[in-house]
Amino acid sequence: MDFPINSPVQKIDDAVFTDQNLALYLKRDDLIHPLISGNKWRKLKYVLQDARLQHKTRLVTFGGAFSNHLLATAAVGAVFGFKTTGFVRGEKVQNDTLFMCSLLGMDLIFTDRESYQHKQELFLNHFSNDPFAYFVDEGGASALSALGCTELVDELEETYDHLFCACGTGTTAAGIINGLSEKKLPTTFHAVPVFKNADWMRQEIEKYLLKEASFNVHTAYGFGGYAKTTPELIAFIKNFIAQTGILIDPVYTGKMLFAIFDLAKKGYFKPGSKILAVHTGGTFGLLGMKNKFG
Ligand SMILES: *Cc1c(COP(=O)(O)O)cnc(C)c1O
Repeated sequence: MDFPINSPVQKIDDAVFTDQNLALYLKRDDLIHPLISGNKWRKLKYVLQDARLQHKTRLVTFGGAFSNHLLATAAVGAVFGFKTTGFVRGEKVQNDTLFMCSLLGMDLIFTDRESYQHKQELFLNHFSNDPFAYFVDEGGASALSALGCTELVDELEETYDHLFCACGTGTTAAGIINGLSEKKLPTTFHAVPVFKNADWMRQEIEKYLLKEASFNVHTAYGFGGYAKTTPELIAFIKNFIAQTGILIDPVYTGKMLFAIFDLAKKGYFKPGSKILAVHTGGTFGLLGMKNKFG
């Protein structure tokens, strides 16, 4: 079970960097698959393997109505031959993400916010008679998911001074940090939480570290909270897309790249530094946020 590509690394030319003799590269995990956000593929890979080992045939998971994880699970189910069920938080709605989930064969069960809090209970209520159903937690936070993300580091052909990644649960970050420590690379890792004042992100990342490691957490780029935006962020994203032809979303990759550009403008990086940013995907989510782009 795999996709036959290592995601490519692409140089981003912008005066903010070239003027200071900095080099910015983007690890294009968004190119792994159009509907499976890159890091969601890495996070699901060993989970799928585990499901298969246990002879499970249905993946059951959870997410909000715009969840990249739901869409990714629906798509991997279709690609690798699993049936899928998604519990969707909140009252019944229609949007592009859920439309794609259905098209990929996912059964959607809309669930009120109270019941949604009790995921194991929901799973047991609906699937206690189905020995082939496999529970996949929301956001895919698990040691197996972190392991899949560690493989991103194995794909790198050059050494970078800095590596940046957007953080939701922090699992992707932890997996990458594990890879950097395992290979004893001299790369400084930077986590960019996509929430307001997310000082707690450090502990979340540390949960999945195989050994102690130092890393930076930049909490100034939450833009008011999860999926919240500001006109400055939207202007940055519009400009980036128009300049590069690379789609980035306002929930994750847009905030992370904004952080790197902002830090560079403030003289944070030593001249000569090589910076790698992970494009974790999520561009399908852009469609759910059209209205923010005016
Ligand atoms: C889910 C997601 C993340 C967050 O990954 P975590 O492992 O939960 O931190 C980042 N970027 C995109 C595009 C995502 O869909």
